Amino acid sequence: MEVLVNKIIKFSNVDGPGNRMAIFLQGCNLNCKYCHNPETINFCNNCGKCIEKCPTNSLSFLEGKVIWDNIKCINCDNCIKICSNSSSPKIVKYTIDSLFEEVLKVKNFIRGITFSGGECTLNFKFIAKFFSKIKRELPNLTCFVDTNGYVDFSKEEYSEFLKNTDFFMLDIKSYTASEHISLTSKNNISILKNLELLIKMDKLYEVRTVVIENFLNNEKTIEEVSNIIKYKKVKYKLIKFRNIGVKNSELKYIKSPDDKYMESLKIIAKNIGVKDVFVI
Ligand code: SF4
Ligand code: SF4
Repeated sequence: MEVLVNKIIKFSNVDGPGNRMAIFLQGCNLNCKYCHNPETINFCNNCGKCIEKCPTNSLSFLEGKVIWDNIKCINCDNCIKICSNSSSPKIVKYTIDSLFEEVLKVKNFIRGITFSGGECTLNFKFIAKFFSKIKRELPNLTCFVDTNGYVDFSKEEYSEFLKNTDFFMLDIKSYTASEHISLTSKNNISILKNLELLIKMDKLYEVRTVVIENFLNNEKTIEEVSNIIKYKKVKYKLIKFRNIGVKNSELKYIKSPDDKYMESLKIIAKNIGVKDVFVI
C-alpha cells in the first residue's frame, strides 16, 4: 500500500494541538477558487514542461516519467509556478513502513500526526492502516485528519478509518449549497452530514471557515455552523481570506476582510454559544 506525498512538515503548530508532523497527500476532490496549495490538486501527467525551468537540473525524464532529485533541488518552486496542471514534480511515494520511519525520526518532539492535503481522505485505507500502526507502536501520539469532508463518512467502508482517527478538523466553506458549488465545484451535502456525524461520534476537534467579504454569505454560514456546534467541545476557526497564492480565479483581486469585520463574525458565533472561536 502506498501514498503520494506532496510534502511533510516535521513540526507544525497550526495543524491541530501541539507540535505535530503534518503530512500533505497529493490529490483533491474539490477545486476551490481560493486554493492556496493548487499544486496538490492533480497528479502529475509527466508532460515534462517543468524540466527546462529547473535552474539546478533536478528534474529529468526516466522511462517517460519526470524524476525529481531532492538532493540537487533548492526548492525555488519554479516547477510548481509553471505547471498548468495544478501539480508538482516533487511528489514522493511512501509505503506504510517508509512513512513510519519518518515519524520515528521525530517521535520524541511531537504530540501527534495530522494528515492533510490535497484531500487526504481519498487515501482513507492507507491512513486507517497507518494510524493503526501508530496506535500499536507509538500510542502516546494522537492521530488527526484535516479534511474538506466531501466523502461520505457514514458509509461502511470508512468505519476503520473513523475508528483509528482520534479527531478531525473539518472545513465548512459555505452552508449554502449554491454558494458552495460556485466556490468549490461540488455540493456540500456530505460535508454537512459529516459535521453532524463527527459531533455525534465526539471526534470533531475543529471547524474551519474561510471568510471572504462581499463574495460569500459569511454570516449565514457562521450562524448555521455555530447553531450545530454550540455548547460542544469544538473549536471554530474563522480564517481571513488572503489572495496570496490564489491562481486563475476572480478571487485574486479580492482583499482580505478587516479585523473589525472578523470580530463581528466572531461575536455572532460567541453569542450563539460557541466557546472557542479563533480568528486567524
Ligand atoms: S509537474 Fe506539471 S509541468 Fe511538471 S511534468 Fe508534471 S504536469 Fe507537467
Ligand atoms: S523547486 Fe527544485 S525541482 Fe523545482 S524548479 Fe526549483 S530546484 Fe528545480
